[in-house]
Amino acid sequence: MTDTSRLLGLSRRHVLAGLAAAPALSAASPAAAKTAATHWTPQQAQAALKDAKGTKLVLLGTGAGPVPGRSRQMTSHVMVSNGSAYVVDCGMGVTDQYARTGIPFSALRSIFITHQHPDHNIEYGPLLVVGWIQGLPLDIRAFGPPPLKQMTEDFLRAYKQTVDFWAEDFNMKPLTAVDVKEISSAGPVTQDDNVKVSSVVVQHPPVKPALGYRFDFKDRSIAFSGDTVPLEAVAVMAKGADVLVHETMYVPAVENYIKEAIAKGRPVKFDAFMAHMKADHTPSEDVGRIAQEAGVKTLVLSHLTPPLDSITDDVWREPAAKYFKGKIIVAKDLMVV
Ligand SMILES: [Zn+2]
Ligand SMILES: [Zn+2]
Repeated sequence: MTDTSRLLGLSRRHVLAGLAAAPALSAASPAAAKTAATHWTPQQAQAALKDAKGTKLVLLGTGAGPVPGRSRQMTSHVMVSNGSAYVVDCGMGVTDQYARTGIPFSALRSIFITHQHPDHNIEYGPLLVVGWIQGLPLDIRAFGPPPLKQMTEDFLRAYKQTVDFWAEDFNMKPLTAVDVKEISSAGPVTQDDNVKVSSVVVQHPPVKPALGYRFDFKDRSIAFSGDTVPLEAVAVMAKGADVLVHETMYVPAVENYIKEAIAKGRPVKFDAFMAHMKADHTPSEDVGRIAQEAGVKTLVLSHLTPPLDSITDDVWREPAAKYFKGKIIVAKDLMVV
């Protein structure tokens, strides 16, 4: 039984049926049998949310980097607690993936951006406009590093005519502005009747600031590393959390990937590329160390680098499991935690 089936209490047959629907696994080749499952079906996610008691996290997109057309979408998450939804990051695919969870757009209260990289922010604006058409509350709030205010104003200005046509046609109040709070430092971010949110500044050069977030709901605490090198501050922020979602780089596969790319003529230098990756991201061993130091209950390996379908869950898990003795989940798109 996989994590997926255990979590949902599904039979192996159900899970295999779900996998058969995954495009990445549809090829009936011997290689396909070894391929890791990359996502849950919307039906699985909706069933898990329907039976949920308490706060839930849905991993909407779990692949690192702004690369379209992969089995794993770019980074985004939604947490749902007491009927309210909170989105963290808006990589491409966030709007569709959100809709697939069955969580109504009217439930979305706040959007949080960890940093201004396209795999984390490119669909922020479209989520606002399409979400508005689908019932997003006009008092939606957004949080993230500068220049989020300017980006929000510019996007809404660019789409003003589009929004106005729709508002006129369907007699809706137009989305004209979003209440944005820019976050540049560690500390308290916001609080409502469900959740207290705090931030940590992480290291992801040259992006400044890059943030991680911690959400303390009444029944559960969920922390996100964002994109970062291995960082003590993340362990401190995540101290005692129920769940830590940490970015994860499997170094041997990154090395193979870049060697192959160079062999195909890509104009990069191996050492320079690997130095860049190590200056910006966290190898899976270190993810395990940080989670162990933080003493979290569950570690979710996500923002998977490289997000190749050929890397199995065991390969992702093993380096982290050398150091972390709690529960490890290898993230899949639409997985409910
Ligand atoms: Zn990223
Ligand atoms: Zn990044």
